[in-house]
Amino acid sequence: MAGPEFEVPKLTEYTDVPKIKEGSMAHVRSFPAAEVTQTFLGYPWKLTDDWHDRAINRMGELLGKYRSLRVFMDACVHCGACTDKCHYFLGTADPKNMPVARQDLMRQVYRRYFTLPGKIAPWLVGARDLTPEVLDDWYSYYHQCSECRRCSVYCPYGIDTAEITMAGREILNTVGMGLKYLSEILTKVQKIGNNLGLPGPALEDTLLGLEEDIEADTGVAVKMPLDVKGAEILLVTPSADFFSEPHVESLIGYAKVFHAAGASWTLSSKASEAGNFGLFNGSYEQMRTIAMSIRDAALELGVKRIIVGECGHAWRVAYSFWNTLTGIGFGGDDPFSIELQQQLDPRYKQPMHICEYTWDLIQQGRLKFDKSANDDRVVTFHDSCNVARGSRMGDEPGGQFTIPRSIIMAVVNNFHDMAAETIGEGTFCCGGGGGVLTDDLIELRVKGALPRMNAFNNVVQSDKVNFLALICAICKAQFTKVLPYYGFDRSMVGGVHQLVSTAIKLD
Ligand code: SF4
Ligand code: SF4
Repeated sequence: MAGPEFEVPKLTEYTDVPKIKEGSMAHVRSFPAAEVTQTFLGYPWKLTDDWHDRAINRMGELLGKYRSLRVFMDACVHCGACTDKCHYFLGTADPKNMPVARQDLMRQVYRRYFTLPGKIAPWLVGARDLTPEVLDDWYSYYHQCSECRRCSVYCPYGIDTAEITMAGREILNTVGMGLKYLSEILTKVQKIGNNLGLPGPALEDTLLGLEEDIEADTGVAVKMPLDVKGAEILLVTPSADFFSEPHVESLIGYAKVFHAAGASWTLSSKASEAGNFGLFNGSYEQMRTIAMSIRDAALELGVKRIIVGECGHAWRVAYSFWNTLTGIGFGGDDPFSIELQQQLDPRYKQPMHICEYTWDLIQQGRLKFDKSANDDRVVTFHDSCNVARGSRMGDEPGGQFTIPRSIIMAVVNNFHDMAAETIGEGTFCCGGGGGVLTDDLIELRVKGALPRMNAFNNVVQSDKVNFLALICAICKAQFTKVLPYYGFDRSMVGGVHQLVSTAIKLD
């Protein structure tokens, strides 16, 4: 690994509020999107001549469509409770990474064009014209937010900066200032079927290779079925699970769980991506287009259940949006949604998270484990933002926190949580979520990981923790990249179902 061209923050016992360094992250700008991908997505690819009016019109449309956005623009009283809650501010000290400052980038423009006082006396109400400089700040700082929603937990009004960031990115795209990373992934998933651009035949080869590996390892013929019509369960998982490390270890874990339960299941080459980056761009149209491939696959295969693999934002989209976007669950009322609702088995949650599925089986006594197989591991668990603050699991409040931990404790002997204020609802982001998982933002990613790295280091020191368990594909990719910057080995990162895979007993 080449040495970083920035200073990696020092690990400390507590993550202190830093002394402000004005403009310290102004130089961090991700690569702009290219013509070919933006054109495919229906956006201009360079700043349009009429950018000013376009931006204001689009903002007006979004304010009209999403009442929450208008409430967030009006409600802030600048109490300051959110200022020290963002991992990017804590790691970079740039005051524009304070959540309220990030919001104000849009709020000032909102006041100028959409409120009477801002139109009459802008200087009195902190209103500001939309200028090229303001737009540049939007581009920088709306791509320095991982849409993690931690700040909203501490805001007395529940103002969700993530939603403002999404609106900011959608407006930027509308005027021709899209982000390369997001634009490429959104294009790949719609053209090829998954974020990694893995075509169907390559997926089939990968699954066959994994079946051979599992049999060589365990002596048991665990299958990874693909496109099986009439299977009961459709598993939709992030494409990283098919060949990235450590993600693939969790895919092996899911397959072993299905095998041990005697389940009829399949993957789909048409729905080979659970991830949905339409969420990150604030485009509900893109989000729906991507989610539709899952509905199409479910209808075509005739499955009765849909289960989602380890991926934070994918689970949030599945849990919170699939029903109205696609009719998976209840909500959609078009003929295909109704057909799907009649097809899916109402006795089960639709969709269901793989952790809910595995935990149900454990509670029924249908899985057997040898916990000692994980005895070389001392495990802690990182709550991923979109699971923690954007979804739930199980039937009890907080199931998204207890279920993954219950699974871990069923399969390992050594588990230690990180400090209470850094997990659960107040969990710190990995630093790479929300569409910033690109190497041109590595400085942001490393610095933004500081609060989580401090908490992790504390349990490494105090309890000899050597394994950071996760249920998010983005967190896995982020931590395997960032851990070495802080002196940890990347092999310390892995999925919850990787632990299940190690301990499960197969016939
Ligand atoms: S949503 Fe997360 S990344 Fe964005 S401002 Fe709030 S705390 Fe920071
Ligand atoms: S906590 Fe809420 S009301 Fe207070 S400054 Fe932050 S966004 Fe505004």
